[in-house]
Amino acid sequence: MTEHDVLIAGAGPTGMMLAAELKLAGVDVAIVDPSTTKDREGGSRAGGLHSRTIEVFDMRGIADRFLSQGQTAQTVRFANAVLDISDFPTRHPYGLALFQIRIERILSDWLDELGVRIYRGTAVTGFVQDQGGVDVELSDGATMRAQYLVGCDGGRSIVRKTAGIDFVGSDPTMSWLIAEVQMSEEPAWGFRETAGGWHAIGRGDNGVVRLALTDPELRSGEPTLRDLSETLIAIYGSDFGVHTPNWLSRFNDATRQAVAYRDRRVLIAGDAAHIHPPLGGQGLNIGVQDAVNLGWKLAQVVKQISPENLLDTYHAERHPIGARVLKNTMALVATRRTDDRTKALGDIVTELVSMDEPRRRLAAEMSGLGVHYNLGVGHPLLGRRMPDLDLVAADGSLRVFSLLHDARPVLINFGKAGSVDITRWSNRVQLIEAKYDGVWELPALDAVTAPTAVLIRPDGYVAWVGEGSQAGLIEALTMWFGSPGAAQRT
Ligand SMILES: Cc1cc2nc3c(=O)[nH]c(=O)nc-3n(C[C@H](O)[C@H](O)[C@H](O)COP(=O)(O)OP(=O)(O)OC[C@H]3O[C@@H](n4cnc5c(N)ncnc54)[C@H](O)[C@@H]3O)c2cc1C
Repeated sequence: MTEHDVLIAGAGPTGMMLAAELKLAGVDVAIVDPSTTKDREGGSRAGGLHSRTIEVFDMRGIADRFLSQGQTAQTVRFANAVLDISDFPTRHPYGLALFQIRIERILSDWLDELGVRIYRGTAVTGFVQDQGGVDVELSDGATMRAQYLVGCDGGRSIVRKTAGIDFVGSDPTMSWLIAEVQMSEEPAWGFRETAGGWHAIGRGDNGVVRLALTDPELRSGEPTLRDLSETLIAIYGSDFGVHTPNWLSRFNDATRQAVAYRDRRVLIAGDAAHIHPPLGGQGLNIGVQDAVNLGWKLAQVVKQISPENLLDTYHAERHPIGARVLKNTMALVATRRTDDRTKALGDIVTELVSMDEPRRRLAAEMSGLGVHYNLGVGHPLLGRRMPDLDLVAADGSLRVFSLLHDARPVLINFGKAGSVDITRWSNRVQLIEAKYDGVWELPALDAVTAPTAVLIRPDGYVAWVGEGSQAGLIEALTMWFGSPGAAQRT
């Protein structure tokens, strides 16, 4: 029987990011996906990346691959307001317009470089877990064994269902028809509002026309070209000679979240753990960030550096983030209705969120830059993203994010050289002596007191802040990176 340390169901953005994180940490990981090619049908769903996801890719040294293919823009929107983040203290104070198919291709090429194995053309159909691992059944009749199985298999996740994890939330109230097609006539480009809702026609690559049309009433099932033609005529009075669809699909505003992100040796991430309508463009982004939160923790458990309960911090940290995104997308759907009263509400919400304080808070949340994991009380940096500061170290200047390319934890000591001692963790945690004389600023918070040292997790979040002493450092190192005596499996 084929065996891997970790098996991932699904080579979407979440599964690929997780595989990369595990591989960087030296874990034997493989992915199973039913698609036979890298460019799966419908791969152009998402239209881009928010700032924090660009930062995450920057931490791994691959941001330029995305930036060079897309267009930066202010992409955080709420109601009718564009929430400009150009004043946020980040190297990437913008979003990136880039279709999902391109994002997936870049991730997939990165996995090739890292040497991640993907079993294509076969799907997970079931599994049985025991104390030592999981036997995973595949649609081609094979069985694989892994220490852990992670379901990154999308909203209809077989892994989540087989694990018996409840998926709770709201049933759909409206649906949208989406397509990539050819048109023989010039369509009505841009947005159109009708009594039924908002509709959009945009330009895709190579003359392709991209459509997102609100269905006149809640509909389900895969649409046909004829459905699309009829819907276009109902909205625009013409179907603009629509023909040759690349793909047609439908999504709705069902909003659901898994009650648990882990059941013993089985975990779920991305759309398998949470679904919501795409308003605000957050689904792919939070899937990638789920993966980055989980990857290093799972690697440490597999390598026996950390006890299994480290995995519970994945649910504890990521479930509230998902719940908040579900809430803001439900609010976004509500503000998109086109009856007079909802439009009046939408106008007032637009005015309110355009004011500085609400803009900063909401934009920090939706861009992902404001994520704050509850790691206890303390300095404002604790549980927040480490800013990508320009440091001066013994070897010259360096960026904080360049220290995270290998997804290894790092302690930066800004105090007197040698004043912080992590010798007993030196095989796991890098120690950098550096200086930084600038202001410490965090998105949506003003300047914060400069720390004398910070312990940064591989996902870029601050696990401990030194304020002139080593108080709490040993506890933080043990909590996040295992006890010094832990038998590390190589
Ligand atoms: C119209 C539209 C626009 C969107 N726009 C945005 C946007 O602008 N920004 C944004 O962030 N998000 C957006 N999203 C959401 C985004 O597309 C999803 O959140 C994202 O694709 C989730 O990634 P994932 O890897 O978790 O799941 P998926 O992308 O669904 O990938 C799941 C993978 O699992 C595989 N799989 C399925 N079943 C099995 C099985 N049994 N065994 C093994 N593998 C399996 C599938 O083949 C697939 O490769 C949009 C979605 C839609 C529909």
